[in-house]
Order: sequence, then structure tokens, then C-alpha cells
Amino acid sequence: ERTDIVEMLEDVEDRFSFQMKQKHIRTIIEVRPGVSTAMLDRDGIDQVLDNLISNALKYTPDGGTITLDASITEDGMLSLSVKDTGIGIPKKDLDRIFERFYRVDKARTRNLGGTGLGLSIAREIVRAHGGFITLQSELEKGTTVAFTIPLNDEGRALT
Ligand code: ATP
Ligand code: MG
Repeated sequence: ERTDIVEMLEDVEDRFSFQMKQKHIRTIIEVRPGVSTAMLDRDGIDQVLDNLISNALKYTPDGGTITLDASITEDGMLSLSVKDTGIGIPKKDLDRIFERFYRVDKARTRNLGGTGLGLSIAREIVRAHGGFITLQSELEKGTTVAFTIPLNDEGRALT
């Protein structure tokens, strides 16, 4: 069954809408030309998106913005990203951020629960689909995590 990409992003937005409202965080969905439907491992991609959005929510103060973006890369991959206007990640931590159990210093996230597994699981899933995941962040400005999923000519995920 083909997945409608816009619908997939709207569904993930719905799953978090209660928490978003509580924190007065608004979401924007940006869909670039060429994005339509694809044969995807919907459960896997949902798990990646949920992990990234739960981070964006957790590490973005009240009143922030989370942007979900879908585009097609030049080499025909589906590219999805989650961008927030949150606390950001210090440069010194960026190298290790995808490691299992790695969390940025506890003082800053004392009240924010977590085990440090979300990003490592996201990376595992993306890699299992032949894609890659990148994270860009600026302290006190925000964070963007983007990942790609290769598609074949019929818009089928290459797994
Ligand atoms: P879990 O996801 O297992 O509940 P977690 O959120 O702490 O716990 P990860 O999702 O792997 O673990 O993230 C690792 C660390 O990276 C976090 O503890 C946090 O310090 C930092 N981080 C991740 N995403 C963001 C983000 N969007 N903004 C700021 N910091 C982030
Ligand atoms: Mg997390």
C-alpha cells in the first residue's frame, strides 16, 4: 500500500497535537515539489518521526515552532526533516549525539526524562533502509534532524 507523504506528516502532527498545544508550540508542514506517495515501511518511518518530534517537543521551550519538511533529493531519495526552535546542542556533544545512551549534560535536562536511545534507534532504522541521517544544531537557536530514504523508480523504498 502506498503512503501519502503529506498524510503521514499530518498523522504524526496529530499524534503530538495535545502536547504541542500544552506547550503552545506550533507546527508547520512544508512539502516540496515532487513529493506525493511512496511505498514505505510506514511503521519504521513513523518510529523515526516520533522519536525526532518527541525530542523537538521536549527540547523546545513554550511558544516555539516545529517544522516538518518533505522533499525529494537530486538522486531521488525521500528526505524528511524535523526542525525546532529549541535549546540546541553544544558543539562538543554533536559527535556523540547518535550514540546509545548519550545525553547532553544532565544539569540542563534534569527535568526532562529520557534514556538517550531515541536518536540511536532513529539512526538504526534509517540505516536499515539504506538512508542516512544528519543533525545540525545551534545552541539556543534550534536543531534540525534530516534523514533520507532511497526510493526506486516506482517510488518504492529500497530495502
Ligand atoms: P529518549 O529519546 O531515549 O527518551 P533522549 O531524548 O535523552 O531520551 P535521544 O533522543 O537519543 O535521547 O537524544 C540524545 C540527546 O540529544 C538528548 O538527551 C538531548 O540532550 C539531545 N537532543 C536530542 N534532540 C534534541 C533537540 N531537538 N534539541 C536539543 N537537544 C536535543
Ligand atoms: Mg529522545
